[in-house]
Amino acid sequence: MAESSVELGFVEKRASWKLKSKFFPSKVGGFPSWLRLNPLPNHEDLICKACKKHFVFLMQVYAPILENEHSFHRTIYIFMCPNAKCNKKFSHDNFVIFRSQLPRKNEFYSFEPPEEIEKLSSSPSAEDYQDICEICGCFASLRCDKCSNKKYCSEDHKKNDWEWNHKDVCENDEKDIGKKRQKKLKNYFLLPEFELVTEIEQLPPEAPEKSDEEKMKEYRQFMQSAKAPKDLQDTQLDDLDSLMKKHDKTFNKFQKRIKLEPEQVLRYQRKGVPLWVSSENIPSNSDIPPCCCGAKRDFEFQVMPQLLNYLSLDQVEESIDWGTLLIYTCSKSCQYGTDGYCKEFLWKQDFSDSKE
Ligand SMILES: [Zn+2]
Ligand SMILES: [Zn+2]
Ligand SMILES: [Zn+2]
Ligand SMILES: [Zn+2]
Repeated sequence: MAESSVELGFVEKRASWKLKSKFFPSKVGGFPSWLRLNPLPNHEDLICKACKKHFVFLMQVYAPILENEHSFHRTIYIFMCPNAKCNKKFSHDNFVIFRSQLPRKNEFYSFEPPEEIEKLSSSPSAEDYQDICEICGCFASLRCDKCSNKKYCSEDHKKNDWEWNHKDVCENDEKDIGKKRQKKLKNYFLLPEFELVTEIEQLPPEAPEKSDEEKMKEYRQFMQSAKAPKDLQDTQLDDLDSLMKKHDKTFNKFQKRIKLEPEQVLRYQRKGVPLWVSSENIPSNSDIPPCCCGAKRDFEFQVMPQLLNYLSLDQVEESIDWGTLLIYTCSKSCQYGTDGYCKEFLWKQDFSDSKE
C-alpha cells in the first residue's frame, strides 16, 4: 500500500487524567486542555452571537510546527454553540477556532517531556493561574453567591451547577461535603470525551475505474442510508442519473476515499487539499479571510461527519450536523495575538441537497 500524506484521526476512550494539558493531548469533548495556561480566550469570544449561549468545547488537535521555534508546542481548538437552532446550512457562525503555541522553553511546562503519572497529572494547569468554570472549563469570573467556593464563567453555568450538583452541598458542614464529594459531579453540558489518535493514511494500488452501473448502485445505497438528506431519500430513481452527474463526482470521490478507513473523524494535512463532500459551497480564496497578522490562511485539517456518531447530539429531532468542517490557519503560524489565543477560521460544508 502507498502512503498518502494525510494523517487520519480516530477516537479512542482514554482515562481523563491522560488528556490533561500537561500531556499536550489531541482530544474530543470533555474539558478543553489549555496549552497556554494564562491568559485564556476572552469570555465574549466564547458566547454565541445568535443565542447568547456559551460555546461548548468540541475538540483540540496538537499540531506542532517544528521549523519554528515559537510553535514547538501548538494546539488548535474548536468550540461550537450547543444550541441546534444555531446550526444553519452553509453557515459557520456557530463555531469558533483558536490557535495557541509555545516555544519548548516556556513559563508553563518543563523542557523535557512529562512523566505519565496520574498523581502529578493536574499540574501545571490553567487552574494554577486563574479561576476555571466548573461546567465548561473556560475562564471564570463569577462565584457561588452563597459559599463563593465554586467558580463559573456565566450565570447560566452557575445555574446549571446549582441544579445538577451544588445545591445539595453548598454551605453544608465539612463532613457532609466530604461525603458528597465522593459522587461524580454531573455535567450535562460537556460532550463525551475521547482521545484523538492519528495514523498515516494508506492508499490501495490504483484500482480500475468503476463502471457507471457500479457507481449508480453505490449512489442508491447511500441515498437510502440515514446519512443522506431526508428529501433526497425520496428522490425518484429516474432523477438519480441526472443528479449524480450534476453533483456527485465530488461526493463519489469523498465516499471512495473514506471507505478505506470508515471510522476516521479527522484528516490532517497542513497546506494540503481538503476532501470535499460536495461540489457545492466550496470556498473561493476570497471566502477565507487572512490572519490578523495579514498573512493568508491555509487549509490545515478537516473534521469528518463520522465524529457526530460519537457526540450523542442526535437524540433530538433538530440536531447539530455537518458534511465536513474545514480549518484554515495562519500560513506563518504567527506569534501575533498569542499572548492569549489567536482566532482562526472554520468553513462548514454540508451534504448537498441538490436544490439550486
Ligand atoms: Zn447559538
Ligand atoms: Zn462555563
Ligand atoms: Zn455554594
Ligand atoms: Zn498570522
